[in-house]
Amino acid sequence: MSATAGTRRYDCIIVGAGHNGLACASYLARAGRSVLVLEANERVGGAAITREFAPGYRVSAGAHLLNQLPRALSAELALGEHGLEFAAQELPTTAIASDGAPPLPLGAAGDAPLSALSPRDAAAYPAFRARLGRFAKVLYPLLDSIPPRLGTSDWGDRLALVKLGWRIRTLGRRDMRELLRVIGMNAYDLLSDEFETPRLKGALGVDAVLGTNFGPRAPGTVLTLLNRLAAESAAGPMPLAQPKGGLGALSDALARVATAAGASIRTGARVASIRVVDDRVAGVTLESGEAIDAARVISSADAKTTFLKLLGPRHLDTGFVRRVDHIRSAGLAAKLHLALDRLPTFPGLDRARLGGRLLIAPSLDYIERAWNHSKYGGYSPAPMLEVTVPTVNDPSLAPTGRHVLSAIVQYVPYETRNGWAADRAPCLEGLLALLDAHAPGLGASVTAAELRTPADLAHEFGMSGGHWHHGELAFDQFYMVRPVPGAAQYATPLAGLYLCGASCHPGGGVMGLAGRNAARAVLRGAA
Ligand SMILES: Cc1cc2nc3c(=O)[nH]c(=O)nc-3n(C[C@H](O)[C@H](O)[C@H](O)COP(=O)(O)OP(=O)(O)OC[C@H]3O[C@@H](n4cnc5c(N)ncnc54)[C@H](O)[C@@H]3O)c2cc1C
Repeated sequence: MSATAGTRRYDCIIVGAGHNGLACASYLARAGRSVLVLEANERVGGAAITREFAPGYRVSAGAHLLNQLPRALSAELALGEHGLEFAAQELPTTAIASDGAPPLPLGAAGDAPLSALSPRDAAAYPAFRARLGRFAKVLYPLLDSIPPRLGTSDWGDRLALVKLGWRIRTLGRRDMRELLRVIGMNAYDLLSDEFETPRLKGALGVDAVLGTNFGPRAPGTVLTLLNRLAAESAAGPMPLAQPKGGLGALSDALARVATAAGASIRTGARVASIRVVDDRVAGVTLESGEAIDAARVISSADAKTTFLKLLGPRHLDTGFVRRVDHIRSAGLAAKLHLALDRLPTFPGLDRARLGGRLLIAPSLDYIERAWNHSKYGGYSPAPMLEVTVPTVNDPSLAPTGRHVLSAIVQYVPYETRNGWAADRAPCLEGLLALLDAHAPGLGASVTAAELRTPADLAHEFGMSGGHWHHGELAFDQFYMVRPVPGAAQYATPLAGLYLCGASCHPGGGVMGLAGRNAARAVLRGAA
């Protein structure tokens, strides 16, 4: 079926051209549906964009590393043929220090710096990684499929649960027991059981809490770690990658796939409301007042925005509205962008490692303490940082000889007690001092700086709370109950309305699976 010229009626309208909205549009258009994607911003990509933040300096303004995009999805959509190139792949991760200690590489078995710190940890690390890798592989198919419904007598739902149990069974008795033992644990306890080196534990703890409102002692942080590793397991053996031109290049490639398949994309087209006629979706109305009809509306805006703002509670039952209202979505990840007049020098770091992922998280206690301030309306004066210098691999992002530094900063709350008008300058100053302590002279090389708090990110990308996952990734908001029961299979209580963004299973991160799963749900007409 295709759109009828003049009548403005589509099979599917997608709200939001983030990478999930674009992936969903691509699959639906390829399946022959007429698709219109409506994006509020002037460019596609949502939180996967590249933009200028200082004259001549460009940065991936939200997500800055690609580590979760499944190779299968990339191949299915032929992203390479649609312009996606990589400035670097298989990037290394290094835990850096400010006390003169040498950088600690993560990833390769038997690295000499770890052996020097702790022969015991160096011996235990490869087996730990391999074990978590096995768990991640078993869990990945969960990410790649529509979650079953709870408590139905439907054979499809039952089969999905049986398959899950069977996959875990294939791990064998020892691994199965271990997975069941650790999956509900907190990362602090697990890593403390395994290792003694504070910096190793801190660096591993980063992956358990990055993008969440948790410290490593919070229950369920092994689940978030496994969720990330599961996604990475499908992305490749050393999955960290940097698209040429930044993360926006991935979104641009996805937009080309969608349009090549016949979808139309309109930017600067903010959806003001989702229209309902006779208890089913009839289309959308834009902020401009323009009405566009569609049989289905698939929203990549987060669940709170979709249900409470665009649809409106009057179309939903009160229990459902309450569940949506209770979705926890307090973002704590901020973004720091620096324009540098020279390449920063981190002692002991060669150029290959400087072009990779650098972690400032000297211990699990450091991360836990960094989290504490946000509980009481403060930003962390000694935050955990994931730092990249993308211009090492991609000089096109800055004027010749100049550089860009991009860092994820945790924990920075949406609002502070004093307000961001008062706190922004001292927070930024503290960040520059922290970086300078790791890379002496860096502070003096900064020619422009931009700090994007969760409130700024919420405003720029339209995500409630500025939350990485469009809603906390936690046991109570996971898999079969994500974002809430009644909307966990991408279909929603309103006929014709679906979700396809990070607030659905399997959550945030640039992986495209929420978009692909949602397209499958639409195509199979899941109720
Ligand atoms: C600071 C930060 C750093 C991150 N770093 C990484 C990283 O390094 N690697 C990684 O894999 N992930 C990272 N993430 C997570 C990742 O960026 C997100 O989870 C992912 O981009 C979500 O994609 P999405 O398509 O579901 O939603 P989004 O990217 O949020 O896109 C939703 C789109 O919907 C649009 N929209 C909303 N409302 C409307 C409306 N009413 N009308 C029209 N359009 C609308 C928005 O403008 C937006 O374009 C990071 C997130 C943050 C916040």
